[in-house]
Parts: sequence; C-alpha cells; structure tokens
Amino acid sequence: MSTLLIKNGLVISENSQVMQDILIKDELFVELAPHIDPPENSKIINARGKWVFPGVIDPHTHMGIPIKKGHSADTFASGSRSALHGGVTTILDFSVLNAGQTLQESLGDRIELAGESLCDVGIHINITRFEPEILAEIPELIARGFSSFKVFTTYAEADMMLTYDQIEIVAGIIAQYNGVLMVHAEDNQVLSQALEPYMDRRESHPRFHGLSRPAEAELVAIDQLGEISNRTKCTIYIVHLNTAAGLAKAAEYPLLKVETCPHYLLLSDKMYERDDGQMFVASPPLRKQEDCEALWLGLQNGQVHTIGSDHCPFCLADKPRGLPFQDIPNGMGGVETLFPALLAQFVERGLHLELLVRLTSGNAARIFALDHLKGSIKPGQHADLLIVDPALAIKNWPSQLDTMLDWNAYTDFPARFPEMVIRRGEIVVHNDALTAPSPGMIIKAK
Ligand SMILES: [Zn+2]
Repeated sequence: MSTLLIKNGLVISENSQVMQDILIKDELFVELAPHIDPPENSKIINARGKWVFPGVIDPHTHMGIPIKKGHSADTFASGSRSALHGGVTTILDFSVLNAGQTLQESLGDRIELAGESLCDVGIHINITRFEPEILAEIPELIARGFSSFKVFTTYAEADMMLTYDQIEIVAGIIAQYNGVLMVHAEDNQVLSQALEPYMDRRESHPRFHGLSRPAEAELVAIDQLGEISNRTKCTIYIVHLNTAAGLAKAAEYPLLKVETCPHYLLLSDKMYERDDGQMFVASPPLRKQEDCEALWLGLQNGQVHTIGSDHCPFCLADKPRGLPFQDIPNGMGGVETLFPALLAQFVERGLHLELLVRLTSGNAARIFALDHLKGSIKPGQHADLLIVDPALAIKNWPSQLDTMLDWNAYTDFPARFPEMVIRRGEIVVHNDALTAPSPGMIIKAK
C-alpha cells in the first residue's frame, strides 16, 4: 500500500481556500485535515505556499479522430501526455459511429483506442444516425455507465446531422433514463444559406470560414434546443458555446448546461488576419471580441458551467496556407493549456479561484454523473490533484509541450503550469517531467 501525505498546501475547492494536509492511500483520498501526522512509510510532499487544485476534467476532447482528410494529430497516448502536463487528469472523449456499426461497437472501438491514454477517460457516445436499432441501445448503454450522448444539428453533408424532431425523440429517451444529451448547436439551414455565396468561388482566406458560419446559427439552434429541453425534461449540454446571443438565449432555459472553450474566451476573429490565420480555423469559428467578453461575464454569473478544450489539433503541414477555406481541417488543440492559461487569466482578472475549480472539475463531474469518483478533493474520491507555485507565471513557453504538435495557439499568453500532478495517487508529472505513469482507466457514470 502506498501512502502519500501532502502537507500545508492551500487547498482550493469549489467553495473555499483552506490550508490543509491531504492523506492519500493507493488511489484514493482518505483524509483532509488541518494537521495529519505522517503514517509510517509515507512519502511526504511539502506544499507550503503552494496552491492545490482538484485534477482537471476536460469534458471535450477528440483524440485521433478521422476528419475529411486524415486524422487529428494527437493520439490518446500523445494527447494524454500533454494533458497531464497541464493538470488534466481526466478527459471525456467521443466515440465515432462508423457506417454499419452499432453504438456498442463504436464504444468498443473507442475504449480500445483509449487503452493507451495516461489520463483517465470517460466516453460520450456520438449518435450520428437516427435508426430504431440505434435508439434502442440507449437504455442499455446508460445502464453500463455511458450516459452522455452527442448529436449534431448540422454536418448534413457528412451524414452526421439529426433534425430537431429526431433530436427531440432522442432527448425523450435519454431523459427517461437520466442521461445527458450533448449538442453541437449550429442551425444547418442558417449555415447552408451563409455558405451559398461561396459555393462557386475559390476563397482561401480563413476569414471566410467565419463569415460562412454566422453567429445567428447558434442562436437559432439554441432556441430550438431550449424548447426541446423544456418539453422532454432532458438535460441538454451545449458544447462549445461561443456567442453572446447564444449565451443569453441559453440562460432562458433551466435544463440547458453550457460549455465554452478557451479559444472562444481568449481569441477573437482577428486571428484569421494573421499569417498563420488558417491554423485558427475551428468549428464553430472564432467570434468578435464582444463575444469573448460576454463569455467571461457568463463564467462569473453562472451561465457557463464548464470549459472544455475541444482538443482536435493539427500540425502546420496539415493546414497549409492557400487551401479553399472549406477544405481547411477544422480544429485546434489546447488540452494542455486549458488550465494553465485560464489560471493565469483568473489571477490577472482578479477572479475567484473557487470559480475556476467549479468550471474545470466540479461542474463537469456532476453534470456527467462522475462525482462519485472525480471532481473534488475529498475522502473516497480518486486522488487526482495538481500543485501550482503561485510565484511562477511564465510567458513565451515552448509550443511543443511533450506532444508531436508543432503549433500552439496560446504561446503569447501567460500560463501557470502545475509543478506536480497526481492521478489516482500516482505522481505523474514532477517539475515539468512526466514520471512514467501507469495507464489511465475508463471511468463510468454512476
Ligand atoms: Zn468537438
């Protein structure tokens, strides 16, 4: 049995900051108290003057997924390695439903791939086909502990879209079994109309990506989804919300939960004007500075519940300048900078660190029914935590954070990386180095 005692750290939870000792036995937290005497044979970590946060849960990653041409550049192995550097001890990724597959089969494939993850992994189930056999699988999957499902209101051309009527039926089933429906919320009709003028033009400037996916698409979709949540009583989680108007609309519906991403908080559509502007092409696109500011307000007034990275990175060679904007691979990385960049912003903006904990661990654990395992530093939970030295805010850090990626969107931002990360009782990062951790595990909802 291994025993770890963390002494005198300032433990930051969702509601308090208190100097406490933390006792870990094997994989679990066992005691939290102002003073704990070291048990025999325990390893002691002195955290005096340091911040101790719960391990970060990134509710939205896409490791190694197929896209139009190729794959997103991080595998579960490489992406989870860099995630740990940034304090992310749990990632929630998505299954990919291939032609002819059942949901169970798509989940099985994803679980196999996730076997090389060093983070613990939860899996959301993508429902990209509306068929009776597929719908019939939902109750069984929820019973197995896979209770979050994702649908798309667009991507009709990739055969991934469900209509609002179909989404309402799916939501009704999920609500009956206390699951969560996640939705990519951009209205397909609005997008089709906005894309129309560009169909016969070869535009390669990345700004056209933004112009072809207007903010109105989010507003229209969220309006529909809010009504569906009211009628079906289904909790609907809006992934990567990115507009001021969408946020205000979502706040009208009590059963909508809202996720945003670091890129929508920190980066505006001005990025498309840079020489490497194509690297910032992701869907939905970057918005106006006013939208960024509205999202920051939304974090503070409780209208935003989680922050996910939507980690789906590409290397420079994958996104060459000059492609027609419709052909630029969509997606950006950010699992490793999710917490360090946000923490630096919270400090600069004078925001409560307790709020950051709610947004980066507590809320995600509750929404996805993982709070019997994850999300806070308390006895009985998985011993996932990170230790940050408040004196260390760094700038101009290298873009390659132990990954195979050669580009990072956030290197101009200050970041506060953890000096130590512990995942299920194991020290996995110490002084910027990965310490050969054992593999992560698949986690299930309660
Ligand atoms: Zn995504």
